[in-house]
Amino acid sequence: MEPFRQTAHALIKLLEEKKTSTKEIHDALRERVAKVDPSIHAFISLDGDSETPSSISEGLLHGIPIAVKDNICVKGRLTTCCSKILAGFRPPYHATVIERLIGAGSFPLGRTNMDEFAFGSSTETSCYGITRNPWDKERIPGGSSGGSAAAVAADLAIWALGSDTGGSIRQPASLCGVVGLKPTYGRVSRYGLIAFASSLDQIGPVTKDVEDCALLLNVIAGHDERDSTSAERPLPDFRLSLKNDIRGLRIGVPKEYFAEGLDGEVETSVRQAIDTLKRLGGEIKEISLPHSRHVVAVYYLVATAEASSNLARFDGVQYGFRDEAGDLLSTYAQTRAKGFGTEAKRRIMLGTYALSSGYYDAYYLKAQKVRTLIKKDFDEAFTHCDCLIGPVSPTAAFRIGEKINDPLAMYLSDIYTIPVNLAGIPAMSIPCGFTKDALPIGLHLLARPFAEETLFRVAYTFEQNTEFHERKPDVK
Ligand code: GLN
Repeated sequence: MEPFRQTAHALIKLLEEKKTSTKEIHDALRERVAKVDPSIHAFISLDGDSETPSSISEGLLHGIPIAVKDNICVKGRLTTCCSKILAGFRPPYHATVIERLIGAGSFPLGRTNMDEFAFGSSTETSCYGITRNPWDKERIPGGSSGGSAAAVAADLAIWALGSDTGGSIRQPASLCGVVGLKPTYGRVSRYGLIAFASSLDQIGPVTKDVEDCALLLNVIAGHDERDSTSAERPLPDFRLSLKNDIRGLRIGVPKEYFAEGLDGEVETSVRQAIDTLKRLGGEIKEISLPHSRHVVAVYYLVATAEASSNLARFDGVQYGFRDEAGDLLSTYAQTRAKGFGTEAKRRIMLGTYALSSGYYDAYYLKAQKVRTLIKKDFDEAFTHCDCLIGPVSPTAAFRIGEKINDPLAMYLSDIYTIPVNLAGIPAMSIPCGFTKDALPIGLHLLARPFAEETLFRVAYTFEQNTEFHERKPDVK
């Protein structure tokens, strides 16, 4: 038995039966990372043994560690959003999700690579360099949680945390052939998540299968009084939704998600998945989300506006990198000019422009109005559907360097994931096929706000009746 190949739920069973030990799991993971990660670069650092809490063998998770995206605060550990401007920053507190994981007997294994401040879809904008896709090292793993997805896909981690503002959990999960969930806005506390766009950001699981995804959501979800946007809702045991039965479930297929720009192989796999769900008793119907054509424009106004405001705090005074100049203003300017990368600067400028007086009504306010229309499309669809289904990403993993100098092409790759964040609903990516070049393809499942249970039921049923999740990349 190679512990690093296992899921968390399988390890829990092995630990309970005393067939493995926490130490054996740790040693195996560290060895695996040392051997394999130099060619993938999913991790930017590993948390040393000295950081391991002494209580790790207690609790539900028995000391099974978790990989953590570099924008989630871990007390005393470098947390940099893969940006030079946060160089040397060690948060004085844990994010709520980290506190909960430690409380359940887990702890951080290491920090995973990401696009700087989560701005991107390819993990090519990290100040630490790129991450490679374990299925084809000449290709990107997706982004911005590319390190988390690559780590789970290559068995460098049992599971991981990511964050999703416009697709950053689901798109890399899809491109790396693993499971990724963006929970409902408000389901998981954002306390300790370094903010990108506060009305869109959510933390969520990246796992090897659907059961681990439910298990991890059980641990991290729930109200937190330190995040006023976290919802006071009853918290189900999500594992109870893992039923191999979707008979009678109404599944909508938005026709706008199968239009121009969708790669043929991706379309074929997604259509086959729809047929599979039909065969398993799902009631499939075509639906329309008429405002879909506006999603990219709306997102890149709202998200950049919020980002420009959130990133104003990085000025060389309180956090991280500082480049001292003659006076305070020059110090701000120099610090920010040297500390932020190209994409971060582009976002700050776009967002500041959209918010500036004279343009606010024409851009930001208008975008918020169209956002409401996008949300209403979903409300309408969910009056007669329990779940929606489509592709996660228009193509499988693209080549390193292919889109990095063409921001618009990069932004367009988020077309199916973005509307979910704008509407605040939950959505998941699960493996549903491979291209002829053996690149993974993801299936996108969307549900009503706080209906993660529906996602788990559909995802579990699909997984139990297919074998895509069992295929692994050949990384040594
Ligand atoms: N790729 C999208 C962007 O660049 C989404 C990123 C994210 O979800 N953090 O903004």
